[in-house]
Amino acid sequence: MAKRDLILLALDPSPTLGLMERALSAAGFGVAVVHDCVGLNKSIQEAIPALLIIGEKFSNQDGFSVSREVLERFPTLPIVLYADKAATDLAKSAFITGLSGYLYPPLKMSDIVAEVQGGLARARKLGDWLRREVKRTTASLAEKADFSEAERQKLDAIIANIQDGVIVLDSYRNIILINHAVCDIFDLNGVDLVGKSLTVAIPNEDIKALLVRADDGPLKYHEINFNDGRVYNAQYTPIPHIGSAITMQDISYLKELDRLKSDFIHTISHDLRSPLTAILGYAELVERTGPLNPNQQEFLHRLQGSAQHITMLVNDLLDLGRLDAGFDTRREAVHLENVLKYSLDIFENQIRKKNLKLVVDIAPNLKTLRANPIRIRQMLDNLVGNAIKYTPEEGNVRVSISMQEDQIVIKVEDTGVGIPPDEQGRVFEKFYRATNVVKGAQGSGVGLAIVKSIVESHQGRVWVESTVGEGSAFIVLLPTQD
Ligand code: ADP
Repeated sequence: MAKRDLILLALDPSPTLGLMERALSAAGFGVAVVHDCVGLNKSIQEAIPALLIIGEKFSNQDGFSVSREVLERFPTLPIVLYADKAATDLAKSAFITGLSGYLYPPLKMSDIVAEVQGGLARARKLGDWLRREVKRTTASLAEKADFSEAERQKLDAIIANIQDGVIVLDSYRNIILINHAVCDIFDLNGVDLVGKSLTVAIPNEDIKALLVRADDGPLKYHEINFNDGRVYNAQYTPIPHIGSAITMQDISYLKELDRLKSDFIHTISHDLRSPLTAILGYAELVERTGPLNPNQQEFLHRLQGSAQHITMLVNDLLDLGRLDAGFDTRREAVHLENVLKYSLDIFENQIRKKNLKLVVDIAPNLKTLRANPIRIRQMLDNLVGNAIKYTPEEGNVRVSISMQEDQIVIKVEDTGVGIPPDEQGRVFEKFYRATNVVKGAQGSGVGLAIVKSIVESHQGRVWVESTVGEGSAFIVLLPTQD
């Protein structure tokens, strides 16, 4: 037998209450009576009535206020108000309160049943509509969830199969995601790394150094070297609201190519040195073997000039080879101001010829540097030489040396042609000359590569800040040791 709808009567004892009980029971409803608000609340919660009939006055309370409270908590429960007498205000208040209907004397049993049935019918319609809506919304949410799950799986598959290593970290640098490539690189297959701290999961010195450098400032690349010769280029990228990501690409083949190129250059430079020495030697002998006419004299000078130029280049390349191979190990106390003085001496003529204004600014508290004085001189010669070479006549060149904590800061500034922004990183590469290089400015693009190698072999850093048409500033940081 179908469960009977329960009608809850919240009415003070009266003949009407009895009438209602009889009328509703006779119509097949279940009937329960409560006499106060405590009982009302309990019954609503436990018995779950299908409809509530409440007196305009109930247990010394205002039936409207009690109804409002009930509707706050059970907005779909139909409530019929029983008033002592008919009044227009009553209908208005019932409507405003959100009641399902109202009854007033004189009452017939059929009135009571009709009102209750009407209220239940409306509540049922509302319930059906609600259920349909909930179903519809849940279906669309489920669809969306399916879609995002599919997207997530797709993304997982992409990251898992990508050739490059990918690690995603949370803001505490615990691993959120790590792909197969990384596990292969570090030989960590089969270990569950998610949730672990990166430095614990992958105890690699280069990874640690990468994180330290990332903390120091915006870091772009860091090399990860392995004993078996593999080299990876790691990039650290902060991800807002998540943490960060590290991607790693295998650059072993590029490193190998670079090494082959350097070996090749070194061999060629070495082989060129002897014939060049012979050319210069014989050119000198020609002058001594007898008087030359002016034409012969000029040709000979040109020949000597060119041979000297090639000799300088060859020497530069050999130097670069030695520096790159790590042969520069000589270290002694170097007073930078003295080295700079010697360096500026050799440029005196050129500065005068171009009518450049030279400013030298050396801080009084300079510490001594433990370095190779010959290399430091070579570095200064290259930087000052470039500043003079790439600055038009009447321009300014400024060389300053100062201390910044335990580091010496060397700054060589000029008001020359400048370097285009996208080429500023490249001018330190071997043989790279900027696209705006002054016509006729002699050079081979090796000087700054030598500067960089020297600075790095002294554990320092070098970079350029430049604006085309305004000038450049080359900045070198060298750590001091007491
Ligand atoms: P080189 O001067 O022999 O060409 P470098 O390696 O010393 O080679 O410099 C590389 C390039 O960087 C130069 O060709 C030039 O384009 C640019 N460059 C270097 N120093 C300066 C400077 N002070 N002002 C403008 N451009 C410069």
